[in-house]
Amino acid sequence: MSIIIKQGLVVDPSQGLRAIKDVLIENGKIVRIADCIIPGTSQAINAKGLVVMPGLVDMHAHLREPGREDKETIETATMAALAGGITSVLAMPNTTPCIDSAQAAGLLQKRIQKSAKANVFVAGALTKNRKGHALTDIEGLCNKSVLAFTDDGSSVDDEKLLSSAFDICRKTGVLIVCHCEDTALSAGGTVNRGFISTSMGLRGISKESEYKRVERDINIAESAQARIHIAHVSCAESVDVIRQAKAKGVKVTAETCPHYLMLCEDDVRGFDTNKKMNPPLRSCDDRNSLKRAVIDGVIDIVSTDHAPHTENEKDIEFERAAFGVIGLETMLPVTLTALYGNDSTDLTKIAQICSTGPARILGLKKGTLSAGSDADVVIFDPEREWMVEKRGIVSKSKNSAFLGMRLKGKVIFTILNGAVAYQA
Ligand SMILES: [Zn+2]
Repeated sequence: MSIIIKQGLVVDPSQGLRAIKDVLIENGKIVRIADCIIPGTSQAINAKGLVVMPGLVDMHAHLREPGREDKETIETATMAALAGGITSVLAMPNTTPCIDSAQAAGLLQKRIQKSAKANVFVAGALTKNRKGHALTDIEGLCNKSVLAFTDDGSSVDDEKLLSSAFDICRKTGVLIVCHCEDTALSAGGTVNRGFISTSMGLRGISKESEYKRVERDINIAESAQARIHIAHVSCAESVDVIRQAKAKGVKVTAETCPHYLMLCEDDVRGFDTNKKMNPPLRSCDDRNSLKRAVIDGVIDIVSTDHAPHTENEKDIEFERAAFGVIGLETMLPVTLTALYGNDSTDLTKIAQICSTGPARILGLKKGTLSAGSDADVVIFDPEREWMVEKRGIVSKSKNSAFLGMRLKGKVIFTILNGAVAYQA
């Protein structure tokens, strides 16, 4: 089986490439990129006017399996991922049961082998049952090919415990992803604290609850000389903390999510529960700071924080509705709409933050089109506009923050392991 992608704009930051080229794929691998390759018996894809990038890597997705297959499954989530040009996802461990033992990780791996349509990598819980009281067997879980550790959805309050986790992770070289939220400060809140929360009569979530915890977690990682990755950064103050830590040489990386780059607290005015997420949409100034932070590299990557919920959990009063929005199918279009063309962001930057960057942070041999690498490729039209509609959503849950909005950038083909896995 071989494919030639003809005359697309090939953008691959891993080899400093941005030029109109042909890409030859054989037996699941990228074989060669050249000005012109004669098709022969290969399947040819005409990519004229389109962009050819390494398949996207999303290092923050909630697949809900096991335990909440009514919201999403490994199968439906990976189909949604492919529709969004994402070829690899990191599955968050807050499932039921949660991924806090070798047995749970083993069972999840079996389910992935059976039903995943894209590459799924596994993150393990940092503490048993994500309760924050006792560490999981981090080394044992690493042997079950668990790539990163996180209690995502909650933060580890116990500083000593977190410190010993960083010690273990420094020795094993594995990554800790921190959900930064001081619940003593955020408890009961549903939207950003400020004018909007007051005018809507809702309890606010202060920015302090996030950036104070970012500061604390970075300090603990620094003392342990370990790596740390900050999940879903939503405000300017967190960006400042991360910028200062990077300047000091701390091994910190950070992500924000596409929705924080495009939306802000003003979008919550209509009490639309599909705009309710944690951390909440912040102010317009925060959004602008995040954009700048992505452009200047303080924020390394974007991740979806794909969080599917059933209608029962969303079609209720704002205060009672579940936190979280889906994002796999809109990661690239929203990132393009928010950054590309409006700012000085070029396609190389987009590839860096959506693919090459996350692959590097996770230590995956993905996010590249170099010869010999796995042929995971996304082909998209960066200019084509489309409307996000419920009926077009592949995910099992439809809680998109972008329903009814026009986005720029449409995935046309997704190639996984050298075969067309999605076609618009
Ligand atoms: Zn999450």
